[in-house]
Amino acid sequence: MTELRIAIVGFGKIARDQHVGAIAAVPGAALAAIASRNASLPGLPHFATIEELLEKGPPIDAVSLCTPPQVRRAQAAAALAAGKHVMLEKPPGIGVAELDPLVAMAAEAKRTLFATWHSRHAPAVEPARQWLAERRIKSVHVSWKEDVRVWHPGQGWIWEPGGLGVFDPGINALSILTKILPKPVFVTAAELAFPANCQAPIAANLTLTDIDGLAVTAEFDFRQTGPQSWDILVDTDQGRMTLSSGGARLEVDGKVLAEAPDEEYRGLYRRFVELAATGASDVDLTPLRLVADAFLLGRRTVVEPFVD
Ligand code: NAP
Repeated sequence: MTELRIAIVGFGKIARDQHVGAIAAVPGAALAAIASRNASLPGLPHFATIEELLEKGPPIDAVSLCTPPQVRRAQAAAALAAGKHVMLEKPPGIGVAELDPLVAMAAEAKRTLFATWHSRHAPAVEPARQWLAERRIKSVHVSWKEDVRVWHPGQGWIWEPGGLGVFDPGINALSILTKILPKPVFVTAAELAFPANCQAPIAANLTLTDIDGLAVTAEFDFRQTGPQSWDILVDTDQGRMTLSSGGARLEVDGKVLAEAPDEEYRGLYRRFVELAATGASDVDLTPLRLVADAFLLGRRTVVEPFVD
């Protein structure tokens, strides 16, 4: 098998925590270089920017963009123009429409554009989808509450336009929700709490529904101290399903049906290798559209300034 030679661009928290290990673990994938303004890895070619990587770097087939969303579109366009396959961290963009030209570029160049949703690869997500497919769903509640100071220390970009604030983790919940529910959902109302000194919300409450009027609520909060929650509760005609720990554990009425260690990023790189073999793209903007609609519909309140 020819290896997909991948360069990581942007070497922050998620590149270190997940991407390096996942690339090493997936057959057919190989880490070939790093583009980072500040970091390098021993034994690997290093370049300060993606432009320098593409111009002077070793032969590579693909880039994995682990930078904040505000700078990724231009990086993706540069990589596609240079004939590279592109993997995008989530969210795929700072707006919905900016993806269209990238999708077109990828198709024309016969290169892969892969907009990743790592949470969809959590081990209990597919079992949850299958379990729900055979039940009548009565209501859904999403509780995604984490301490921003613990999980996103010093990430100023998250509070800027396009950084999404609490929707940075919240969009992971929406990526799972839109995979496990049998019918598409849409936002009907939203309340967004903006710190007085920030351009993105620190908390959000969403009301959603589907064509049949299903009741779906979601609570996202970055101010959670103590126990954290990444849970989706679904009441059905055959009991309450709880998908917890970000999609790692599935319970029905307290009985565990699925639980396994996290291999989300290995799943992503297996899919990237598979897509790149034919140059096919995989860009599902459904979770981003829901976030965009929450911003369109959101009633805003101003809350106390956020200090990291
Ligand atoms: P991060 O720790 O802030 O790292 C992002 C890296 O991108 C920085 O370390 C920096 O790397 C580079 N960068 C920042 N600003 C840049 C700019 N203006 N131009 C070029 N490069 C810039 O953020 P992260 O947590 O890794 O998140 C990155 C993306 O991954 C986000 O979209 C996030 O939603 C997603 N993600 C994060 C997590 C998580 O748990 N943190 C989980 C899943 C997905 P260099 O200094 O190396 O250039």
